[in-house]
Amino acid sequence: SMTSIGFIGLGRMGLPMAGRLTSAGYRVLGFDLSEDALSRLTAEGGHAADDAAAAAAADIVVLMLPDSGAVEHVLGKADVAAALGEGTLVVDMSSSEPLRTRALAEKLRRQGVGLVDAPVSGGVRGAERGTLTIMVGGSDEEIARAEPVLGNLGTVVRAGGTGAGHAVKALNNLMSATHLWITSEAMHAGKGFGIDPEVMLAIVNGSSGRSGSTENKWPNFVLPGGYDSGFALRLMLKDMRIAADLSRAVGVEPVLGDDAISRWAAAADELAADADHTEIARWIADHAGE
Ligand code: NAD
Repeated sequence: SMTSIGFIGLGRMGLPMAGRLTSAGYRVLGFDLSEDALSRLTAEGGHAADDAAAAAAADIVVLMLPDSGAVEHVLGKADVAAALGEGTLVVDMSSSEPLRTRALAEKLRRQGVGLVDAPVSGGVRGAERGTLTIMVGGSDEEIARAEPVLGNLGTVVRAGGTGAGHAVKALNNLMSATHLWITSEAMHAGKGFGIDPEVMLAIVNGSSGRSGSTENKWPNFVLPGGYDSGFALRLMLKDMRIAADLSRAVGVEPVLGDDAISRWAAAADELAADADHTEIARWIADHAGE
């Protein structure tokens, strides 16, 4: 019979991902603390679990939770641990902390449960369209088991052993956040000189200053004024801190990274708790004269 999938964490990313797996023909049993998320899932033809333990009683249990704390909390519940049968494969697609992921994998392996870390890049649009970049860490055998499922969500790229996917994801986001800051400063300066922002982006996108910020974030979420990428600023800050801690743990001093973190943190203190991360561009403009 077909692989059964439990899906825990039906937020901005998890809901459209669970929807794609349902459309692909899998039986997906989803769970989230939010009643709203559960009713959206059932409205799209998915099945809502009564609790996390019910979703954990599956062949493959996908997690799309905020962070390592939430992942450890859910998997550490006695009823969830009991529901994870021997041979179950947990796929943590959250942007979690690589060192905590390694420790968790060892703990689960002692219970006969496998773990693959499979965080993603590509945002809510990528989740809806199945065009995510999925960076996986784990053993060859476990990755081979996860791959047919993950293939419905995007392109699977092997990062290395357990935790390597989470490490690359955090480091990617530290780069991305730093790019967005410098892009915003430069764009505001260009505008101050009288340059049309669309013209400047077009030039930079054919030049060496281009990045995800010039190719995607500024044209799609900043210039139109929507600030609606669907990726929260607090989650970006979490990823930046994971990356800086990881750098220090391996003996690399994150000089520019730490500076970016303190600046993003200062902005986060002033912005709404649920602010989109692209609102940093507007915040930088508002503080440009200081
Ligand atoms: P989100 O806040 O929209 O969703 C998280 C969901 O987890 C929420 O619905 C919340 O109710 C649920 N949840 C929290 N604790 C729970 C628990 N104990 N049991 C059950 N459900 C619980 O976040 P998101 O934007 O979907 O991001 C999820 C993960 O993906 C994060 O690690 C984030 O950094 C990462 N990510 C997000 C994006 C993006 O564009 N939004 C892109 C790439 C990666």
